[in-house]
Amino acid sequence: MVSGQSISFQAFKLNKQLLKAVEAAGYSAPTPIQVQAIPRILAGYDVIGIAQTGTGKTAAYLLPLLMQLKHAVDAVPKALILAPNKELILQIDEHIAMLAQHTDLRHTGLYGGVGTKQQVATLTQGIDIVVATPGRLLDLYHRGAVHLRGIRYLVLDEADRMLDMGFMPQFRGILEVIPTKRQNLLFSATFPPKVVTLSEEFLAFPQKITITPPATPVTTVTQQLYHVPNTATKAALLTYLLQDTATFHKVIVFTRTRKVATQIASYLQRKAQGAVGVVHANKGQNTRINTLNAFRNGALRILVATDVMARGIDIAQVSHVINFQVPVMHEEYIHRIGRTGRAKQLGKAITLADKTEEYHIKQIEKLMQYRLPITPLPNDLPVTPTSAEEQKEMARTLDWQRQRTDPTYQGAFHKKKTKSMVRKQRSLRVMRRKHR
Ligand code: AMP
Repeated sequence: MVSGQSISFQAFKLNKQLLKAVEAAGYSAPTPIQVQAIPRILAGYDVIGIAQTGTGKTAAYLLPLLMQLKHAVDAVPKALILAPNKELILQIDEHIAMLAQHTDLRHTGLYGGVGTKQQVATLTQGIDIVVATPGRLLDLYHRGAVHLRGIRYLVLDEADRMLDMGFMPQFRGILEVIPTKRQNLLFSATFPPKVVTLSEEFLAFPQKITITPPATPVTTVTQQLYHVPNTATKAALLTYLLQDTATFHKVIVFTRTRKVATQIASYLQRKAQGAVGVVHANKGQNTRINTLNAFRNGALRILVATDVMARGIDIAQVSHVINFQVPVMHEEYIHRIGRTGRAKQLGKAITLADKTEEYHIKQIEKLMQYRLPITPLPNDLPVTPTSAEEQKEMARTLDWQRQRTDPTYQGAFHKKKTKSMVRKQRSLRVMRRKHR
């Protein structure tokens, strides 16, 4: 597997608009699927990507697609992305909104279960990228609401799930009405015979990329999981553990976001003994190197880091890796804990998870085929009640997770979200008209 550290996004020669969006998204280095897929797609090959959600596969096809489309040209769509359900359509469409924010490319998500009026209205205004479920797309096509004669790029996301849901006839129907001269991309978590057959049917001399999950972590790392109710209690547990300076003598604390990294570092600075360093993508290269050196030679006992650090960097004798937040890119867990237990040293990896992170713990356990042993919270640890704001945030996340795992579930926040998205789309259109 190619390490994410060895290549930067700049190496793909993406335009500045996209690089700016990538930076704002906090992507410091491309993931393995991005390293392999982006140059091939830019070179015009048909590509089959076998990769699970959580590997960065969406940006792996969106970035080269956006790069090739560049800007809005005429009214009819040039790129078509097919996916099995509404949740995924919304997620891909949001991903496009984020990566294409500095371009004028127009995009929309089309899915069933809602009226067609709004979708037709959006299409009438002109569109570059359509993200759709096969059924709704064909429905709108037959009514003359969407034109497919301009399609030059076709993406099939989660192809295995799409076939499981019986979308093959609709998919064939779509192939019949889109131009034959186009680039095809197929992404699938698994590659069973029916996906092989499908790929043979519509891809021409494809390049195949398989992202195999990294091997189970080294046996020199002992793993431990704490269920913790909220962030404040996580912070208390962290200080509780770090009091034992003899055992916890060289510790990396991982967070998911830069903001939490900065907050935790200053919190620990106040609470724990000894100096604390912090590294994340916003820190300059020199600062990062200096902080890492100070940690390496023991001047810093604790290093707080986002996943920038998780790959590649070899620092000897790290006693503990503590996951203050569980990574949503599940392979990162394995990269993170690989920072300890190096060179036959014994290491410990401790993960603190609240109830919204249990979903990711399950995925990580599946990936490693290993159940993380649970350690109960210490009896004398002060447990803070969860704030109303955090409770609300958690409820939203749990709801979103349920939508992803249960296709029949509509979601408690469904109406609100859709309305606000419609409002956002409307104001974007008004802004565009003003700029013309
Ligand atoms: P996906 O596998 O496309 O569902 O992506 C999983 C998550 O990884 C999403 O939240 C993406 O925003 C995020 N992601 C994608 N590419 C990168 C990257 N190069 N670095 C960090 N996060 C990424």
